[in-house]
Formats: sequence, C-alpha cells, structure tokens
Amino acid sequence: MNLKEIIGRCEHLFEDLNFTAVKEWKAAAPGRKVIGYMPIYVPRELVHAAGMLPVGIFGGGDQLEVIQGDAYYQSYICRIPRSTLELGLTGRLDCLDGMLFPSICDVIRNLSGMWQVLFKDKYVKYFDLPQDYDDSTGGSFYVREMEVLRKDLSALCGSEISDQKLNASIGVYNENRKAVRELYAYRAQKPWQAPTSEVYLVLRAGCVLPPEEHTALIRNYLISCERQVRPQRDNARVVLTGSFCEQPPLGLIKSIEMAGCYVVDDDFQLIQSWLLDEVPTTGNPLEELSKAFLHRSASTASKYDEKKEDKGRFLLHQVKTRGAEGVIFAAPSFCDPALLERPMLQEILAKHGIPHTAFKYAENTGQMAPIREQAGTFADSIKLWSAA
Ligand code: SF4
Repeated sequence: MNLKEIIGRCEHLFEDLNFTAVKEWKAAAPGRKVIGYMPIYVPRELVHAAGMLPVGIFGGGDQLEVIQGDAYYQSYICRIPRSTLELGLTGRLDCLDGMLFPSICDVIRNLSGMWQVLFKDKYVKYFDLPQDYDDSTGGSFYVREMEVLRKDLSALCGSEISDQKLNASIGVYNENRKAVRELYAYRAQKPWQAPTSEVYLVLRAGCVLPPEEHTALIRNYLISCERQVRPQRDNARVVLTGSFCEQPPLGLIKSIEMAGCYVVDDDFQLIQSWLLDEVPTTGNPLEELSKAFLHRSASTASKYDEKKEDKGRFLLHQVKTRGAEGVIFAAPSFCDPALLERPMLQEILAKHGIPHTAFKYAENTGQMAPIREQAGTFADSIKLWSAA
C-alpha cells in the first residue's frame, strides 16, 4: 500500500463506529471472541494469549450524537463515558464479548458498574492497577489482579492461558511497542514527514486491528513516509500532554499543526507506549508484566508519583529527548486526573524556563478557531523567544 492508501484505510477504521473490522475478524473463524478495553492501560497480552482480540474503545468522537448516554450522567463530567454508553446502548458494541475498565478515575469506575447492570450477558471487569511500586506490595497485588483476569478469560475462551502462550503474546506486543517507538522517534526526527494527524490515525488503527497486523501497518507507513518528500516548515516543536483518555477530535490535532506546531511527543494512545522497553519473554510472564508496569512505564497524570521530586520528571525527559521547545497541555473538560496534575507540571516547566500553554476540549468540541489562534500565538511566541 502507498501512503495515501495506508492513511485512507486508517481513516476508514477510525470513522467506523460500527466496528466492521472487528466483526470481520470475529466472523473469520468460529468461536472467536473480542474483549473491549477503556483507556488507559490494561495488559492486552492476556487477551491476546486467550486467542481473543483486544479492542480499544475511545468514545464516540465527534461523529456520534449522544442521546441516551446523556441520561445516565450529570452535565459536569467529561464526554467519553456518555458516548461510550451511547455506543453500547445503540448496539454498536454488541460484537464485544466483554469489557475491561481500568482504574483511572471515578468516572470509569462508575461506568464499569453501569455496564454490569446494562449488559448482564457480557463479561465485565473493573481492572485495578497498583498505586504502590514495591514488588512485594503493589507488585503482588497486580500479579493477583492479572491472575483473576487470566482465570476469567480462560473460562471465557474455554482453554487455559498457559505461561507459554502468554510469553508468546508478550513477544507480539514487544514487537508492536518497538514499532510504535520507531514511529515516535521518526516523527521527532522529521515531523514534517510524519504529521501527527497521520501518526494519530496509524496509532488508532491499533485499537481495532490484531497487533501483528498493526505492527506491519506502522512499518509500512514509515517506509511510505520516507519515500514521499514533504516540505519542511519553521514550526515550533511541542510536546502535547493530557490527552490520554478522551481523545481530541482529529480536526483539533490538525488545527494545532496548521497553527505552526510540530507535535514531537504526545500521550494520545498511551497504552501503546506505556511499557517503555521489552518485557522478557522467558520468565514468569505475570511477574515480568508487573515489573515492567511498576518500574519501566510512562509516568503521566494517570500514575501516582511516590516521591514529590519525581513529579514532572517524565515530561521534562520528553521535552529534552524530543528536542521540544514548548509544551501544550490539552486535556478533556472535567478530566480530574489531567487537570489536577496540570498546575504541578506547569510549575515545574516554569522553573525550567520551558514555555507552555493550556486548553481544554471535548471529543466533539467545535471550538477549533480559538484553539488554533491560541496554538498559533504560542508557536509564534516560541519562535520569537528562541530568536532572542
Ligand atoms: S477523560 Fe479523564 S475524567 Fe473522563 S473518564 Fe477519562 S480519565 Fe476519567
């Protein structure tokens, strides 16, 4: 496939709120099962090792009219739980055999309860993640949580998820994460060649494709990018942070780029780059997954920092290693994890003299013009300061 075809396919997968690709995967062999997951992180390796397809559910975006979903929630919370409920209540998620709700915030936790009540014939699990990073406490808790999931999924698929199968799936996801790292490194090096609006679509395809196919898609995209020379602009290099759960509309990402910013790092699809390096495939798989989560994972607003001095370290590292000139805080309206973290991170950036700006969005926001103006002014001010 050439570049246009790859992006066309990704766009189609992104826009298809009927999850046709998932239905086709399921129908291709008898007995296949699909497990959905909400942002931010679940160990997809366990689902894959059960022979099932893990499917990322990131709300309804800006194409879905929320009618029923609004009735379940007050107005002063983010939109993703409402649009996810709308997807479920309108039958668009009927192809899912189960759903995982990771512990990111109260909204997702409440949604898991609603799901249990509304979709009684489906497997539903609130998947708890550790907030303690000691192997003997947080680690053993997390291994137990994964053991429960492993047992549940084994029962659902009708066969045991052996260590061997799990290690093989860890290998598959290691390869996928490696490809994602290559994609991010390439974009940071040549952001004009791999615009974030495209990179985002390529990553979103990973929500619905089997990981093996997604890895190949990323690599094809990188090859195609390199073949097509695009003009380089004098844009400001920025890290975009805070968009790890409810996603901004694609138009907003394009607006930021058109305003003169090269996004050289982001947290849009955090699950795909959450674990920072290879998880060993020869040991006890659950213990290795636990160690990778506790000690070698992205440190963002969604993760508790044990020590005060660790706050902001990961963001500073992103700025430094990606050669960024500034940071854009882009968070969903009413997103407690992102918005409570923001002032602390802003203070740290100010201490280090790193320019930053901030705005809020909703997945269906129509406020492109003001955000474009704000991002444009930010990019201009960076260019003025760096020229001084
Ligand atoms: S957008 Fe923020 S508040 Fe809303 S469900 Fe996601 S993490 Fe929770």
